Amino acid sequence: MLLRRKTPPLLRSSDRYSNDQLRRRQRTDFSVELIEDRDEPAAFRTKENHVTDTLSGVRAHDGLPALGPAPTRLADTLDRLYTDWARSMSATPLTVPPLLPISDLARLGVYENFPQLALVSSSLNVDAATPDQFTRDAVDGALDPYHLLPAALALPSSACYGVYLHFQERQISDAGALVTVLGQCYRNESHYDGLKRLKAFRMREVIALGTPEQTAAHLERSSSFIEQLAKAIGLPVERHAASDPFYDQTGERAAFQRVVTVKHEYRYAGMAIASVNTHHKFFGERCSITLADGTAASTSCLGFGLERWLHALGDHFGGWDAAQQAVENAAGVLTT
Ligand SMILES: [Zn+2]
Repeated sequence: MLLRRKTPPLLRSSDRYSNDQLRRRQRTDFSVELIEDRDEPAAFRTKENHVTDTLSGVRAHDGLPALGPAPTRLADTLDRLYTDWARSMSATPLTVPPLLPISDLARLGVYENFPQLALVSSSLNVDAATPDQFTRDAVDGALDPYHLLPAALALPSSACYGVYLHFQERQISDAGALVTVLGQCYRNESHYDGLKRLKAFRMREVIALGTPEQTAAHLERSSSFIEQLAKAIGLPVERHAASDPFYDQTGERAAFQRVVTVKHEYRYAGMAIASVNTHHKFFGERCSITLADGTAASTSCLGFGLERWLHALGDHFGGWDAAQQAVENAAGVLTT
């Protein structure tokens, strides 16, 4: 069975809109038509026949995924593997807020480096419109920006920002700090593609704060874990040096970063599913996180994109059951 849905026409971002045009542009018609196809698993197709995901149990409309029982179970099993490893490294589990003040993210350079990914959150200005007006606009798919209060909060694009903010103004002990979070992340992308490119997704991160040696050791252990995990599952991945516009593209730091690789990605079929990142003292300086000697702490992080792992596993093993089995087998191998 195939589900077809209508999508609005694409407009160039350089176009200027009236409020009505803006609403039409942002409006997404989620109506679907059902198409019987006994030879294929359930898939979502746009009018243009673009398959957003060919695996059953997944709906990923315009970058917003909903998972059925089988992929939900697989995501839980995967995350348990990541957290078992983090626990074996004595990482402390933390919870950070799903919304962060934009003033804090500005301090972390997010709007200098990734303005195109930013999504922000606002409140309704109840003095500017009636409940009926809000409802009419909402039914049309977009609220009038003149009926909103200024946006002071952001939906973060990475899980570790909340961790650096959690540690701000604090001193890291001589042993260093290792923490893990499961973050809901949000990215405004130019296009969305099934579970491969999403507007909302989960990222499991394991983050080290400490001396340059401690944070470098974390990345070595992380790289080795990713490679062991992929091998135990039987998922082919390739390691690539990658570039992030982080951090500080101007001045002396830029010259330094051009010669030091700060990010490596692990890719399945060209898609990054995990990355190891070093930020040197960038977040330590921006958040006043210090070592015992008063200098800024270094940080590094390992990130797993959960939904991208689901896509890679479902694609490689040809279905959720086989993928689940492969991940459960790997769990047995990794714990023995
Ligand atoms: Zn991170």
